[in-house]
Amino acid sequence: MNALLLRLTLALLAVSVPFTRAAETRPAYTEIRKIDCHSHIFEDVAAFDALFRRINLRTINVCVPGGDGRLEEMDRVAVSLYRKDPTLYPFTTTFNLLDRDRPGYADRAIAWLDGAFRRGAVGVKIWKEVGIEIKNPAGKFILPDDPLFDPIYAHLAKVGKPLHAHLAEPIDAWRPLDPDSSHYSYYSTNPQWHLYGKPEYPSHAAIIAARDNIMKKHPTLVVLGAHLGSLEHDLEGIAERLDRYPNFHIEVAARTRNLTRHPSEKVRALFLKYPNRILYGVDAGWMPLRRTQPPTDAQRQGHANSLELRYQADWDYYAGSGETTYNGRKVQALNLPRAVLEQFYHANAERLFKLDAAWAGKN
Ligand SMILES: [Zn+2]
Repeated sequence: MNALLLRLTLALLAVSVPFTRAAETRPAYTEIRKIDCHSHIFEDVAAFDALFRRINLRTINVCVPGGDGRLEEMDRVAVSLYRKDPTLYPFTTTFNLLDRDRPGYADRAIAWLDGAFRRGAVGVKIWKEVGIEIKNPAGKFILPDDPLFDPIYAHLAKVGKPLHAHLAEPIDAWRPLDPDSSHYSYYSTNPQWHLYGKPEYPSHAAIIAARDNIMKKHPTLVVLGAHLGSLEHDLEGIAERLDRYPNFHIEVAARTRNLTRHPSEKVRALFLKYPNRILYGVDAGWMPLRRTQPPTDAQRQGHANSLELRYQADWDYYAGSGETTYNGRKVQALNLPRAVLEQFYHANAERLFKLDAAWAGKN
């Protein structure tokens, strides 16, 4: 009788201890370091600094696009924020696309990038304009694996800077507008990027294949696929690429809402299988340089408040357990283990972008 009781107690302990341990070690929201690896903050705003310090978060400021002639202006703002506070505002750069038809293009692009690296840039963004906007002199869309860019990719691989690649769009860009889609409001207000019924544009599959081909041609180049690598609809497709390309990573910026539409156990399994390959990001834009009127202090504070709500809602989804609300929908939180949260929220970004990991407590 006693032996049976002992065995039963031991069996119960074996089941309950791991759960208790997981619950005990889940970090508090402000305790864990957080890096928003996809951010566009292009103004020095005290309310943003205060928020980031309070919630233990730093952002990687992304300069993009390369085709609108504003690159130097963006670089100036990103560099000035970085110099003011290198811990809070690391930044990535991009390369000018406007002079791509002039001889010596790649050399000029590389010279610009090297200058940006000397100013502190930790990586290089490439945007969807490559694939679905810019064309060659023959009038054909330039795909991201165009030989034009090979010397640039080779250089990035050589100097160890990651390519942060927002290539293609969510699959919904190629589908009819659907009010239930997470991307409905974007495509209904940005019809130039909604490609359904426009057969002259490359397909989603063609651009993804071109992105993959960059990794085939440059296997040592570290590629960070923005927005779930534009495979937000296809968790198996993400896993396949993570298996096939050891230097491929993804970030979740502006796509956490897509993750919440998949079964939570499948999303959780992806994080548990690839804990060192997925990075946190939000993709919130604050770009007064693109406005005609400067923002007011109330608007700045409003943006800080909305950022804080976004960060908190994301945390509730990734770190929480049970049911939570995301974008007004009831979803199942992922309840990721602490070790996975630490990699997702900061360690992977620190490793890829070679950031100073000893920033805790500096904020
Ligand atoms: Zn962005």
